[in-house]
Amino acid sequence: MSTVGVLALQGDVREHLAAATRVGATAVGVRRLAELEAVDALIIPGGESTTIDKLLRAFDLFEPLKARIHDGMPVMGSCAGMIMLATDLVGGIDGQQSLAAIPMTVRRNAFGRQVDSAETELVWEPDGSAMHATFIRAPWVEACAPAVEVLATATGPDGERHPVAVRHGNAIATSFHPEIAAPGAVHDDRVHRLLLDLV
Ligand code: GLN
Repeated sequence: MSTVGVLALQGDVREHLAAATRVGATAVGVRRLAELEAVDALIIPGGESTTIDKLLRAFDLFEPLKARIHDGMPVMGSCAGMIMLATDLVGGIDGQQSLAAIPMTVRRNAFGRQVDSAETELVWEPDGSAMHATFIRAPWVEACAPAVEVLATATGPDGERHPVAVRHGNAIATSFHPEIAAPGAVHDDRVHRLLLDLV
């Protein structure tokens, strides 16, 4: 059985632990170096990227995590987690750092303040099926290298379509929250399953 860690410094850790458990992994919270070293894959949850960045550095986890990702550990980030996986940010605060796992520029709070939270129907490009997605003060991918595979796009307030789910090698990032199901709906665990498939 694979062990999937959820970075447990801030954000919606519990929901990701539940999703990782549903897809058949042993799910554990990661707050310390020894815990990071023990996992086969890691999820960076949604929350507040500026806080996650600061806490990663305060807990001396930033460089070890970056090194593990660059050594090939499968990683998935949702929302603030997507921001953490970018090489470049638009709308970051002064001094905000990211882990540079995916060659992409991510725009924070891209859907605008008025769209604090929204649910929408996306097309999951790998198989053309529908995917219900929950966005909360979500980022989008402003630009990415040709090697980055776009898994889903959504229309922004600018009327343009923007990537909201991408994959590059061992790293997956989504603007939306795949750990959250629509009220009354069953959980759609395809993104978490994709992470487990990379282990
Ligand atoms: N806007 C948040 C940030 O910049 C992300 C929101 C979320 O993760 N739900 O970190």
